[in-house]
Amino acid sequence: MANREAGEAPVFQVRIASTGEALEVPRHKSILHVLVENGYRVPSSCSDGRCGTCKVRYLSGEPDHRDSVLEPEERSQFLTVCVSRAKSEELVLDLPAPGAAIGPRDPFALDRPIAVVDAEICVACLNCVRACTFHAARIDPDLTGVGGIQGAAAIDMDECTGCGLCAAACPTGAIAMTKFTDGEVASQVDGLLTPSHSSTPHIIAFACPNALPAVRAYPGGERPSACDLEIVDMPCTGRVDNLHIMRAFEDGADGVVVAGCEPGCCLFNAGNTNAEKRVRWIRAWLDEVGLGSGRACMVHVPQDGADQFANAADAFAEEVRALGSSPLRAGGARSAATGSPAEARPVERG
Ligand code: SF4
Ligand code: SF4
Repeated sequence: MANREAGEAPVFQVRIASTGEALEVPRHKSILHVLVENGYRVPSSCSDGRCGTCKVRYLSGEPDHRDSVLEPEERSQFLTVCVSRAKSEELVLDLPAPGAAIGPRDPFALDRPIAVVDAEICVACLNCVRACTFHAARIDPDLTGVGGIQGAAAIDMDECTGCGLCAAACPTGAIAMTKFTDGEVASQVDGLLTPSHSSTPHIIAFACPNALPAVRAYPGGERPSACDLEIVDMPCTGRVDNLHIMRAFEDGADGVVVAGCEPGCCLFNAGNTNAEKRVRWIRAWLDEVGLGSGRACMVHVPQDGADQFANAADAFAEEVRALGSSPLRAGGARSAATGSPAEARPVERG
């Protein structure tokens, strides 16, 4: 048995089959943390065992599975290294050496963002194919999807711009981005919101690079600020996932504004129009869960549109103020807002 003192997580070691290196996993660190610290590249996203992105094959040892995503039959071969630990003193992991390419070309080695598909949770729904305006996503009939179905999505790395529209459109979480990961966006959101009882509306703005200067300039000049506006940088509003917005509300935001460029100006063609549809869906969801649809809006910001954004933000802040502080704002309410319209994707996805 792994070394355990009363009430504490056990210390154990992981051995990497390709290098023979043995790494101790201390009580206060995850296996993922230790692997990344030592140069091993493991894709990850939610960091709490919900998405399965960090699934790694083990060759020997007994894992202590703590995720909520792996099927029983998968657990005999894989573990999620973000949360799972070991019951045995050692786990042997099937990972390539640090710096080695994962597959023929390593998307994580690129210095630009790119979409990566986990075929094993792809249902071949075609959403990503429809969302991608660069024709970088397709269904590869030679891949095996969820439950052994024939065909799964594949991304052409040379055509992919990293806009993230496909990831936001994927209903199963099968698409991860190598930069602006869901985990990174969630960390940005979490870092902005702390429980507060101030009467000033606390508003999170998801802003694309085109809109960012105007959003950063808020309120501008001598103008008083109508809200506490915190900014989450996004590569495109099309990358803003329903789950990112829900995260902001679950963390206690009084309102969320998605700030993108004007229709026809999106660098990725359809990011802002996709985002607008998503905000409409979120407004319906907000009504459904009793928070009020007025807590979310989309603002299209023209070039040099600091004044236009400030006017829109002030008007939105007034609408949010009229709804009062979010009932989730007192803290510790994450996961309370789990109601969803009929066509909704599941909320619990990393
Ligand atoms: S990230 Fe953008 S360009 Fe790349 S596959 Fe997805 S939608 Fe297409
Ligand atoms: S949207 Fe997701 S589940 Fe659907 S085909 Fe693309 S990767 Fe697969």
